[in-house]
Order: sequence, then C-alpha cells, then structure tokens
Amino acid sequence: MNTVSMETIQALMKRRGFVYPGSEIYGGLANTYDYGPVGTELLRNIKNLWWKTFVTKKDDMVGLDASVISHQRIWEASGHVSGFADAMIDCKKCKTRLRADHLIEEYLEKNHETVTKISYPTVFEGNTFESSDQLKNIIENKKVEGLSVKQLNYLVSFLKILCPNCKERDWTEVRTFNQLFPVKLGIVVGDESLAYLRGETAQGMFVDFENIVNSTRVRLPFGVAQLGKSFRNEITLGNSVFRTIEFEQGEIEYFFNPEKNQWEDLFEEWKNMMMNFVVKTLGVQEENLRWREHDDTERSFYSKRTVDLEYEFPFGFKELWGLAYRTNYDLEQHRKTSGKDISIIDPETNEKIIPHVIEPAVGINRLFLMTLIDSYVEEVDRVVLKLHPRIAPYKAAVFPLLKNKPELVSKAKEVYALLQEKIDGKIVWDDRGNIGKRYLSQDEVGTPWCITIDFDSLDDNTVTVRNRNTAQQERLSINELAQFIQTSLL
Ligand code: ATP
Repeated sequence: MNTVSMETIQALMKRRGFVYPGSEIYGGLANTYDYGPVGTELLRNIKNLWWKTFVTKKDDMVGLDASVISHQRIWEASGHVSGFADAMIDCKKCKTRLRADHLIEEYLEKNHETVTKISYPTVFEGNTFESSDQLKNIIENKKVEGLSVKQLNYLVSFLKILCPNCKERDWTEVRTFNQLFPVKLGIVVGDESLAYLRGETAQGMFVDFENIVNSTRVRLPFGVAQLGKSFRNEITLGNSVFRTIEFEQGEIEYFFNPEKNQWEDLFEEWKNMMMNFVVKTLGVQEENLRWREHDDTERSFYSKRTVDLEYEFPFGFKELWGLAYRTNYDLEQHRKTSGKDISIIDPETNEKIIPHVIEPAVGINRLFLMTLIDSYVEEVDRVVLKLHPRIAPYKAAVFPLLKNKPELVSKAKEVYALLQEKIDGKIVWDDRGNIGKRYLSQDEVGTPWCITIDFDSLDDNTVTVRNRNTAQQERLSINELAQFIQTSLL
C-alpha cells in the first residue's frame, strides 16, 4: 500500500499544475476541478490509451460520441428520473449536509473496534431489518448501498453517529434527492422544455443501438464504447477528483446473444481485460487492487452479477471500475418507452434478438488520481512520480547545460526539435536554474528522461540521458536518442 496522504497529493497536484480547485478566484465551486497543463496531458494520455485498447485495437468494438444534453424520456425509461437518488442527511446544529450512506460507511470504517462489540436487537419495529444477522452482516461488511431510507435512518440512530464536523448528534431525517441535472431548453419563459445532462454515458449506447446496427456491419457479439463527460449532483466533499459533479466516464456496452455466448465466460474475459489495463497498460501495482462482489441488496434488480475493481486510496479501498451483467433490461426499457423495434437479426436463424449486455464502466478521473497516488515516491532528497513513461505527462525534458552559451542553446534546440518530431508525446524545454534543480522539477511531474546538451555534445554528438527512476546518467548518441525514448513508451 502507498502511504502518501491526500493532503500531500493535493498539494503536489496544485503546485505542479495537475489539478486546481474549480472557480478558485471566485471562492471555489464545490466538487468541481480544473486540470492544469500537466494534469491535462496525463488525463489525455489515460483517455487515449483506454480508447486505443478497447476500441482501436479490438475488432469487435465500435465507438460512439453521443450528446451530453439528452431527452427527458431517455432518463425516464432508464429509471434515472425515479430512481437515481441518493439519501442525504443534515446536521441541525452546524448545517453540514452529507450523503447518509457515506456518513454511515465512513463511521463503520473508522470505528471498527467499537462496532465488533455491538449487541444486536432481535426485534425490529416496523420490520426495518429482517433479523439481527442481516443487520450484523451489513455493519460488518461496511456497505450500505441499496438500503432503504428507513434502514439508513435506523443505522444513524442505532450507531449513535456524531456529526463529523461539529461532533453533535442532532440529525434531520434521511431523505432522498435526485442526482440528475435538469436543463431548460428554449428561451421563451413558460415554453421551455425539460432535458437532462446525462448522468452516465451508457444510455447513449442503448438509445443509438438501432442506428449503429443499421449504419455499420456489426454482428453479435460486439461492443460499443464511449468516452465523455457525465454529470451528477454530488454533495460529498473532499478527496479531490475522486467524486465530482462533472466527470469523465469510459463505458462499454458489450452486446451478445445469451443463446450463443455464455455470459459467465464474457464476464471473466472483461474482468481480465480491466485488470490488464490497470496493471500492464497504466503500470499500477497489482497489490493495491482488489475485486469486490456486490451482494443481492446492493445489486440492481435486473443485474445478474456485479463486481467492482477497487484501488486502495489513502481513504480506503474504493471503486474504480464497475462490471455488471445487465441482461437486456435497458434495451427492453427503451423499446417499451419509445415504441421502436429495437433489436438485431440473427443472420443464421433470421430471428429478431434483443441482446443482453455486459457493462464495464470506469471513471477516468479516478484512474488519474490512482496513477498519481500509486507512483508517488518520497526519497531522501527528492519527490518522484514513477509514472509509466506511457502515461507520463512529458516524455522527456531537454536542457542546454548553460543558457548563456549560444552554441549550447542552438545544439539543444536541434535535439528538442528532433524529439518533438519523432516522439509520440510532449517534450519540454527547460533552461532555468541549475541542472540539479531542473532534475528535481521534472521528477515531481514524472518526466522519465532528462537530456542535457553540454560542451562534449558539440564535439561528439552525444548527450547525457538521466533516468528518472534511478537518477543514473548515461551518454547516448543523438542519432539513437529518439529510438531509445520511443522504446520506453511501448
Ligand atoms: P459510486 O458508488 O462511487 O458513487 P457508482 O457505482 O455510482 O460510483 P457508476 O454509476 O457505476 O458509479 O459509474 C461508473 C464509474 O464512473 C464508477 O466506477 C466511477 O469510477 C465513476 N464515477 C461515478 N460517479 C463519479 C463521480 N461523481 N466522480 C468521478 N467519477 C465517478
């Protein structure tokens, strides 16, 4: 486990241009963030790798880029208008507003010792819980997703949870709020129509299913992938970009005919692909990851199986990437609500099929935060982000040894231009301060290679290449430099 704290990571992110608080000069806007020059490169590298792995390089996948603003009936059919609700609770003393499930889960996480000594009641008024075993299970698993408002209310009072802000115990009742963002379209008052900012990218794949089938040559099984912004009214504060009201999702709907493909096999294949992407492609340590199976209470009623790939963040193991077998629930819902014949013909039997789906859904911003935490290393005299070169914001930095020697600067500019042309990724130039300071500055943003052009370079066409991870230096010919760096990105 990486022991870096969120405070340290957040300070580094702001100081070095990864992430800034949103709308900061106007006092900030809760749960929004802006990605700075360095963070934008890292985020883009992760997105590009995701797209390349799951769309460009897979012949059973196609891409989609659906509208963010979408018809209200999409969200009625999907169940989001009635059911995409979270439970909130307010502290009457200090007015802090919290998600009730997060309040309880955090309490259980932090008070593990106290919780093991609880004596459980055997009778539950109004059948809040079926038995003391059910209650005990929930408390021991520290997961309350899927519980009713009544059950959440019971837990807050049974566990005697204090307000984490003012340490008082004076709560309102738990009540629900919808996470969708409504938008009014039209400019004439009274004549506007209601639409929603999408709460997930997934619905685009279902709504456009018929169009995709009719406009391309896809055959089952095949998947549709989308990468883009989703919006949710999140009220839980803290933990940086882990939970924001606007975030980047990478979702796939993998459509198949359950008569021809075993869902269990496809599910295993997707689990492997997800783990491979995080460990092999992004270079994250496998020991910091785990799978968590959803039980019946947590799983949506139409899902046959759901698992989460979780990463151990400084605030505990949390979901990165969900994998769910959603049957044909979503396509059926849109078929019924739109009245359109959403289906695909089986070319062998000529039968119409409403395919089933397996859905891997990931938050790119959570992958981003994970890579920073996972790669952070503090050594005696430096802070290094040991990011895989593939995702590093800058692939190499080029330095003239001295900035007031025109012959060095001109040679260094040549090397800089050469790398800019040959390397698939950003190269930076730095001529400020001394070489040692330039190294430290690049280490903190994870630049794998620093290249210095010195007086010898003018005679023998070689440069000093310094390895970020080991701080070792070697001499390489300028002719072999691009190939050397490009190889490290594979
Ligand atoms: P959580 O339980 O953490 O709220 P979720 O189960 O609601 O997440 P999904 O609806 O399954 O999330 O969305 C798929 C992925 O999108 C999640 O695994 C997560 O990585 C990401 N995600 C969801 N909500 C947010 C958010 N508010 N900010 C950043 N990423 C998010």
